[in-house]
Amino acid sequence: MDGVIGVYANRDYSPYAVKRDSELTRLLSGTLHLFDDAMLHSPEQTLKGDGMPFKVYTPYKRRWLELPKPATTEVPPFHGRFSLLSDGQELIPTLSDLGFGETIDVAPAGEGEALRRLEAFMDGPVFDYKTRRDLLAGDPFLPGEDCGTSGLSPYFRFGMISPRQAYAAADRARARAETDAQRESVDTWISEVAWREFYMSVLYHFPHAYNTSFRPEYEKVAFRHAPDELRAWQEGRTGYPVVDAAMRQLQALGWMHNRARMIVASFLTKDLLIYWREGDVFFMKHLIDGDPAANNGGWQWSAGTGTDAQPYFRIFNPVSQSQKFDPDGAYIRRWVPELRDVPDPFIHEPWAMSSPPKNYPPPMVDHHVARERSLAAFKEVKS
Ligand code: FAD
Repeated sequence: MDGVIGVYANRDYSPYAVKRDSELTRLLSGTLHLFDDAMLHSPEQTLKGDGMPFKVYTPYKRRWLELPKPATTEVPPFHGRFSLLSDGQELIPTLSDLGFGETIDVAPAGEGEALRRLEAFMDGPVFDYKTRRDLLAGDPFLPGEDCGTSGLSPYFRFGMISPRQAYAAADRARARAETDAQRESVDTWISEVAWREFYMSVLYHFPHAYNTSFRPEYEKVAFRHAPDELRAWQEGRTGYPVVDAAMRQLQALGWMHNRARMIVASFLTKDLLIYWREGDVFFMKHLIDGDPAANNGGWQWSAGTGTDAQPYFRIFNPVSQSQKFDPDGAYIRRWVPELRDVPDPFIHEPWAMSSPPKNYPPPMVDHHVARERSLAAFKEVKS
């Protein structure tokens, strides 16, 4: 391209981005300069001793942790340095220009908000992360909520915060920790940042996993084509309160709690025996943190088809998960208003009431029967 002096960007590691950037390298003939900063450690830095990529998280994390972490740097003020970008608002397409119809209110964007969130999280909640991270109640994108997790995923996703800043802040918090339990909590949070990089690295090295099962044998599972059931799951009408609460949280906020993601993914792929890509694609459409690698990794982990997946015979029970992680039903009551007045003992399984709420559906499958169906389908492939 004529007149281009230099184009500077951070590397992006998804299969689409790799292809795009190689095309750009060709088009920009030598003026494209790519840097590694969307990850603390690029996929090439975290290989095994034999030069092969890790397929299991724990040894990957060991390698990731032992590498020296890049320092943060003070960036000079942005204003005025990119005048065309800041003045040229008309160059930025609107959502409707991009073909989006209905929109939802999402959390404020920008680096300032990301740093505010990081600081607020490192000021206190990080020290209880290990014990509170799985509790479903509390929405990081609604004002004044008490949450167990940081709500930083959309900011990571769109580069509003760098993993370098996050790691450095966590390291400082670790130094301030007063007990072993607090230190462990900070380390647990850092491990999640490492999970993010593990999945980015896996997808980079094994791009086939983007739209097929990482373990090819699982492509042969007799998944069901059940569009009505898929729709009921998408719309939060399965009759399982915790699944429905989570799917409605997704539609309302464009975000879902990690534990809830695991519960709904297990329900779709195991209880309904629907292929994991259906869920992956639906999540990508609705999540404000939708990330090709983390989403793919999370779905394949839940479906049991991925690298470091839970074994196929571990199937989440949506009632006991709900009892454990939403003990007082606050999460369910917020997102499934039809169940607001259901007494505590029945909130996780309203069908057990003598007269269940009439405006809420009965469970669409019997979990125990569905579990056996799923085990049989996966076993068939294993044998
Ligand atoms: P925190 O608990 O505060 O964690 C800090 C950061 O670590 C997160 O912001 C995120 O960047 C990273 N992280 C945490 N957990 C994971 C994980 N399990 N895998 C990878 N990175 C992690 N995360 C996405 O960012 N985008 C996705 O599209 C996505 N899809 C998922 C789909 C499924 C089926 C599952 C089970 C998980 C998915 N995750 C995804 C991972 C995780 O659910 C979210 O990162 C997390 O809920 C974000 O909330 P938080 O920022 O409060 O996380």
